[in-house]
Amino acid sequence: HYYFVNEITNNNFILKNENFKHAANVVKLKVGEEIVCNYHEQSFLCEIVLIATDHLIAQQLKQLPSTEAPIKTIAILGIIREQKWDFVLQKLTELGVHAIVPTIFKRSVVKVEPKAIEKKILRWTKICEDAAEQSHRSVVPIIHKPIINLQELEQYKSELNLVLWEDAHQKPLKSTLNSQFRSLSFIVGPEGGIEQKEIEILATLGFETVSLGQRILRAETASIALLSALNYEKEW
Ligand code: SAM
Repeated sequence: HYYFVNEITNNNFILKNENFKHAANVVKLKVGEEIVCNYHEQSFLCEIVLIATDHLIAQQLKQLPSTEAPIKTIAILGIIREQKWDFVLQKLTELGVHAIVPTIFKRSVVKVEPKAIEKKILRWTKICEDAAEQSHRSVVPIIHKPIINLQELEQYKSELNLVLWEDAHQKPLKSTLNSQFRSLSFIVGPEGGIEQKEIEILATLGFETVSLGQRILRAETASIALLSALNYEKEW
């Protein structure tokens, strides 16, 4: 069992609240059993040494090798309908994404009420936490506040900056991915796609268009396809 913990005292991790309830009451772990504690983006194999009424203490046995990707990726995604959106958050977390920037394009059908943003980010972060635990990641992807003004994407640029565009036939992904880079930001449009004028704005920000081939992929397929291709190309 994997837990993200934030309390440590002389190399022992303290599990409280949700973590404690899950370990003690749901999976009913016992003293002597082993768990993995994630702390400050590192993973440790630990042994439970004490179970109290409202917390448990796990002693650090050894640090585990990182499962994090060597390339930092920022996914700038047109927000799509909830069910598919939740699916993309889960899959990109499994595939090692570092951060997600929900973005509203002209053709976005999904609108996010300003007063609902905090609650949505909390729910989206929980999806990523569960996916990070399931995929044995020591890092939970960051979900940024939704972007409406595309100019603000400047702050999320990386060494390599791509916008996935089905009309960019002349720019196949392969030639782009096998260049050397340590960080990648990629943009995927919503169900309705990205307008030509928006592509031009993104080009002025330094996002180069790239194609995933001749077929039109659903938004959720495109972002998963790109990150899968990167996993394969960079063998992480
Ligand atoms: N223009 C599309 C259509 O005609 O149905 C709608 C957009 S598509 C459903 C959603 C997003 O996935 C696009 O904005 C683009 O970012 C990405 N995408 C889909 N197919 C792609 C391809 N072959 N190459 C690059 N990006 C693609």
